Amino acid sequence: MVDKVEKKIVPGMHPDLAYTLLTEEEIHRKVAEMGRLLAAEYRDKNPILVGILKGAVLFASDLFRAMQVPASIDFMAVSSYGASTKSSGVTRILKDLDQGVEGRHLLLVEDIVDTGLTLRYLRDYLEGRDPASLKVAVFLDKPSRRKVEVKVDYVGYEIPDEFVVGYGLDFAEGYRNLPYIGVLRPELYQ
Ligand code: 5GP
Repeated sequence: MVDKVEKKIVPGMHPDLAYTLLTEEEIHRKVAEMGRLLAAEYRDKNPILVGILKGAVLFASDLFRAMQVPASIDFMAVSSYGASTKSSGVTRILKDLDQGVEGRHLLLVEDIVDTGLTLRYLRDYLEGRDPASLKVAVFLDKPSRRKVEVKVDYVGYEIPDEFVVGYGLDFAEGYRNLPYIGVLRPELYQ
């Protein structure tokens, strides 16, 4: 069972947000919980966490620190939505891994899975590099928007079909450093 979120109006939240879905405290608690679970799974495997820039940079870093087992971290960047809120379905590698990953245990770390197109592309790409294993951890899942089936091994929270920002997630490169996650007022992008 994946935890679901509740809408809340939090005093002092960014004025461009209609409401908050996850507070800083809820995010912190969930990352700690996922870190403990993953530490048990990867204790003797010296995994490589593969964070996807830029959205997953905060989650990947926090999860890496929360795992507390021997591990390394690397990043990839792929083309994303740009300043729009709809996926084009086109994905291109803008930055590849710095190291060879053949025979290594990989944990792909993403901010959010929406249509599934990005994750499907990345899973196939990394499988093609012959890792010892490949699993996927995402912080947010929007299951109602899925266009392609893709296996996700660890999910933080399920969220409704809303465009969210904060905790690494942007709109036109803004809002990434909000320590909480919220829904942007629709009039700001419609
Ligand atoms: P997918 O390929 O699954 O449709 O989309 C994955 C990518 O789209 C995510 O890594 C993220 O960058 C972006 N994305 C999807 N939904 C949202 C959202 O609600 N807010 C933001 N800021 N980005 C999103």
